[in-house]
This record gives sequence, C-alpha cells and structure tokens, in this order.
Amino acid sequence: MQLQGGCLCKAVRWQATAAPLVTRHCWCRDCQYIGAGSGTVNMMMRRDQVSLSGATGSYASRADSGNTIERHFCASCGRRDRSSWSSASARSTTPMPWRRP
Ligand SMILES: [Zn+2]
Ligand SMILES: [Zn+2]
Repeated sequence: MQLQGGCLCKAVRWQATAAPLVTRHCWCRDCQYIGAGSGTVNMMMRRDQVSLSGATGSYASRADSGNTIERHFCASCGRRDRSSWSSASARSTTPMPWRRP
C-alpha cells in the first residue's frame, strides 16, 4: 500500500508504505484551537513507514499526561503537517507517534 499527501502549497510532502494504524477525530482542547473550534482528523502511523520532505516549523507543548507533543507545520503555507510525542516517563526524545498524547 502506498499513500501520499502534503500541504496546501505542496512544499511539504509525505509518503507512507502502509495503512495508518489508527484514524481518529480528536476533540481535545488543543485540537479545538487548531481546528478553529472544531476537532481535527488524524492518522497515526509508524515513523519508519513514513517519509517526509520539505521545510517545517514546529511548536512543542506538554500534554496532560506529561508527554511532550511537537506539532509541525509547513514553513510556507502554515498548514498543520504532523505531531509527534516524546514520553516523559521514559525520558526519551524519540518521537513515538503511535502513543497516546
Ligand atoms: Zn505548504
Ligand atoms: Zn487532540
């Protein structure tokens, strides 16, 4: 299976070699800010099954769980691209996108 997508201006592109592990609609407070009052639709994928290209900016914040969430967005058009999590309990900076935020 090959999936691909990208941002509005096409500067950031992604390709996946497998189907998402989970798709979900999130209504947490952060997603309501991102979605201008609505929730967000997300795919959760294994990092080793996704390749990315293009310049992104990022914003890091702490979830209620204590994990750090880093949200990436296109440096050109600003479209939200992806989020990754770092586990506070493991004291790791390795992104683990398949974990709960
Ligand atoms: Zn863009
Ligand atoms: Zn959310």
